[in-house]
Amino acid sequence: MCEHHGPTSESDRAGRPGRRALVRGAGGMVLAGGVLAVGAEGAAAATSQNGWPAGSSSSVPLTRLTVGAATFPAGVRSGQVATVLGYVVRRYDREVERLVSGWCWGHAYRPIRGASTLSNHSSGTAIDCNAPRHPLGKAGTFSAAQRSRIHAILADCDGVVRWGGDYSGRKDEMHFEIDVRPGDARLAALVKRIGGGGGGSTPPATTWSTVRQGSTGFRVTAVQHLLRHRGARLTADGIFGAGTKAAVVAFQRGKGLAADGVVGARTWAALVVTVQQGSRGQAVVAAQKALTARGHRLAADGIFGAGTRSAALAYQRSASLTADGVVGQRTWARLTL
Ligand SMILES: [Zn+2]
Repeated sequence: MCEHHGPTSESDRAGRPGRRALVRGAGGMVLAGGVLAVGAEGAAAATSQNGWPAGSSSSVPLTRLTVGAATFPAGVRSGQVATVLGYVVRRYDREVERLVSGWCWGHAYRPIRGASTLSNHSSGTAIDCNAPRHPLGKAGTFSAAQRSRIHAILADCDGVVRWGGDYSGRKDEMHFEIDVRPGDARLAALVKRIGGGGGGSTPPATTWSTVRQGSTGFRVTAVQHLLRHRGARLTADGIFGAGTKAAVVAFQRGKGLAADGVVGARTWAALVVTVQQGSRGQAVVAAQKALTARGHRLAADGIFGAGTRSAALAYQRSASLTADGVVGQRTWARLTL
């Protein structure tokens, strides 16, 4: 039994808009010899192969998923599903192979290719990773080491996530999907363990602090080290003076941001650097000092080793963030709030 949907070739990708237009124009999608309405009402009644409500991107609650360079258009199902798939792909990006921009896919309203069932992509509960590298129907697109890392990630998901490389029939090695029905206790338990906050609601938009001239303390220290990481020459003394302001203004100009010298949400989001085990440098010093300020004492040596990872994990768990040991946007935002 095999699921699929995401484009596997250029010709397939080129086919997407056409297919979508065709569906819209016909007012329905032909399935199993019949016609399934794709209007909001009809879509609400449909479920994908794994039992989740399916429909067009306007009827399925979707949230944007960004990991490294990759996005997963048109998004993944908000809430618990997004937490779990986000956890899987962040680990995939770090442990299996880097995700490539433009090669990853999320929600798409369509049947499983060659079948009459709605693909799990139709409910936003499936994703494709680096599709061109792992085409549908091809086995052995990963090394043995990569396969074992994928299986280690899945084992940590307690059976909630299935990989298309494990299908008994046609393999689909780019493909990962939620393998439990809505409301399954294993899903809630997994979300609780990996720290998505649970509840099935959309995660709140990231909130950032505001740091400006006259501010002092560890948030300012973080800004200064992050500016140093980006090439500014200044002392990281935790005091936001004229020199720091000038460096912020220069950074903002370079990024096309409003150059007001105030570090608010947009500037923070542009300034922070995702750091993880193996990272080195001023951004790591910034993370280490921020973690220390949050009670996870670390030497600020600029080397993100096992100790820094443990501290990041402990902090993430305490802050109900996804506990992946990677200091990315959300963790930075909370650390510096
Ligand atoms: Zn897929």
